[in-house]
Amino acid sequence: MSNNYFRHHIRTMASYAPSEQPQPGTEIIKLNSNENPYPPAPGVLDLLKNINGEWLRRYPEPLGGEFRRAASQVLGVPHDWIIVGNGSDEVLNLVVRACSEPGRKVVYPIPTYVLYNTLSQIQGAEIIEIPYRENDTFPAEELMAADGNVTFIASPNSPSGQIVPTKDLSRLASQLSGVLVIDEAYVDFAQENALDLVKEYDNVIVIRTLSKGYSLAGLRLGFGVANPRLLDGLFKVKDSYNIDAIACALGAVAITDQAYKNSCVAKVKASRTQLAADLKQLGFQVGDSQTNFLLVQPPLGNAQYLYQQLKERRILVRYFPQPGLDDKLRITVGTDQQNQVLVETLRQICS
Ligand code: PMP
Repeated sequence: MSNNYFRHHIRTMASYAPSEQPQPGTEIIKLNSNENPYPPAPGVLDLLKNINGEWLRRYPEPLGGEFRRAASQVLGVPHDWIIVGNGSDEVLNLVVRACSEPGRKVVYPIPTYVLYNTLSQIQGAEIIEIPYRENDTFPAEELMAADGNVTFIASPNSPSGQIVPTKDLSRLASQLSGVLVIDEAYVDFAQENALDLVKEYDNVIVIRTLSKGYSLAGLRLGFGVANPRLLDGLFKVKDSYNIDAIACALGAVAITDQAYKNSCVAKVKASRTQLAADLKQLGFQVGDSQTNFLLVQPPLGNAQYLYQQLKERRILVRYFPQPGLDDKLRITVGTDQQNQVLVETLRQICS
């Protein structure tokens, strides 16, 4: 097949490689994609059993109205300040498609979520990557100086697990002439969030997902919160029916049951503390985390070897073969039982 079928940017870019996704039924301890180890809220599973053909016969509401209304109640923002996406990945994509093009800058600190790079490359945008400073210090001045048409900040960040303080994000928002995307995919596990900034700055969009705190990664539901004037541009590039009727209804139930979500998050946070302590005892360096994962450095600097050895023993963790991360592993916090198996297996491999 001719390579010339494809646009220049597509011919020259590497494919995005999502983490390995063995399907349910595979006997594996899966700690590589930061999924929640607990099931979705009981109400979600009940509703799923009662879905009838009529839901599927009709087109869904184009803007995901039922979910927007539920999220609006929970977040205390009007429903028209919310845009719903097929996972938060889609909302990130909408921002890139609406705001960037060749000659316009997309800026973000690295290391961070690799999809920012992929989406920007597809769009042919000019990409400016600014390394975090020593000890994951936020490079605020450099980001302001770069002044992107779009600036992405994941807070908490992946893979570091650290947040950017809201006061730093606020200063950034006030200085940038472009859009500031605050990606809060992991915010449910964090101590602070930046949602209020959307009320103060009309160039800020805060992006959230039901994949992590709400145990619904398979449903593909995420959303952005921003001033309706900013959302207007994103609605123009959105597919007409980007959210299916089932995801919209199940998502509304999930986000309404905050007590259930909070109970799962509390369990994950307690397990995170225990897992960090156990890994430190094995000699690993463990970074602070405000997420449902830990970024760890093995004592012998043999991250890739450990990743492979764990995989052979049916435990999946994340290894990033890139400079700066190739001596580290990102490990999702599982149930206490899964974490114990992981720690015991590492102990055996390392002994
Ligand atoms: N942002 C960050 C920082 C992530 O790590 C992820 C998921 N891996 C996402 C966004 C996307 O999540 P989803 O599309 O499942 O909502």
